[in-house]
Amino acid sequence: MYSNFFVPGPTWVRPEILAEMTRPMIGHRSVEFREMYGRILADLKQLFVTAHDTFVVTASGTAVMEASLANCANRRVLVTSCGAFSERWANIAESLGLEVDRLDTAWGSATDPGELADHLASRRTHYDAVTLTHNETSTGVTNDLATLARVIHDESPDTLVLVDAVSSLAGIPLLFDEWGLDVCFASVQKGIALPPGITVVAVAPRALERAKKMPYRGTYFDFLNYKKYADDSSVPSTPSLPHFFALAKQLDDILRRETPVARFARHVAMRDTTIERTSKFARLAADRSHASPTVSALAPVRPSDELRAEMKKRGFTLGGGYGMWKETTFRIGHMGDITMEALNAMLDVLDEVARS
Ligand code: PLP
Repeated sequence: MYSNFFVPGPTWVRPEILAEMTRPMIGHRSVEFREMYGRILADLKQLFVTAHDTFVVTASGTAVMEASLANCANRRVLVTSCGAFSERWANIAESLGLEVDRLDTAWGSATDPGELADHLASRRTHYDAVTLTHNETSTGVTNDLATLARVIHDESPDTLVLVDAVSSLAGIPLLFDEWGLDVCFASVQKGIALPPGITVVAVAPRALERAKKMPYRGTYFDFLNYKKYADDSSVPSTPSLPHFFALAKQLDDILRRETPVARFARHVAMRDTTIERTSKFARLAADRSHASPTVSALAPVRPSDELRAEMKKRGFTLGGGYGMWKETTFRIGHMGDITMEALNAMLDVLDEVARS
């Protein structure tokens, strides 16, 4: 079955995954739940490529951005900002009363590791944490997460590395342990291709140690509590069970049916095809050398609202521009379980519409 839905999250969900969500309820303190959640946690370790703790939170990604800060920072943070979602970290940190410094990068470009190194080296202040956004969904830019994390470790070894992988995990390679990340999370409506509603998380021991020193880290989002329960394949409060059923199947499919290597290659191929096939009528808004494998922001010759409306008439939903680029761009989400065949079928129609 083909997708005609190309929004960069929520993305298209396969019918067999949707079907998992209609299974009868089980008790979340039951043996069946523990068995299923135990498998989910083990599979998440494979997906994040970590030996550290993983858990699932019933809330969207923004909640876990806030939780990461509430668990890991009590004074000052550095936010690396290159678009609307990386900027969200700054708003949340301010709302928690943290002092926020920022390293701003122009929309369409990736955060520069050299600038980050200079910023950290030239500042005397200590940061509890630096926030990084692996893939900036508003601009379609993938940051060089491995290098940015290494710069933080080299320049400021006590600073925690908090990573938003919302639109990268399961679409773009990510190595939690090897890159020395401390907290990393992704809501599931993008690369993991489930309906929105839960968020998967990996945490390193350093982040849990930091959380112990935070007396007012809240209750629902207390990472130590999630870890304590996960050690027993359990969760602190009633989870969204339909999502957990679907996640268990989807992780199995990603890891063993498609395999991460094939999945990452499919995303790169979908990006390259999108850029190539739209180049006659739209300009890629992001720096090509950091163009995202999961989402492309395109500035079309024809007004983007008109273009999307015409595509809608033909049964295809594309993403709108976001934030500052709302009027000038549209976005194609080529993530999750979308196939090359579905993408090409949509691009055939888009080509016709854009040139008419
Ligand atoms: N971070 C990024 C990079 C995103 O793309 C999004 C949503 O599009 C979010 C955070 C927010 O996630 P959620 O909508 O699951 O709260």
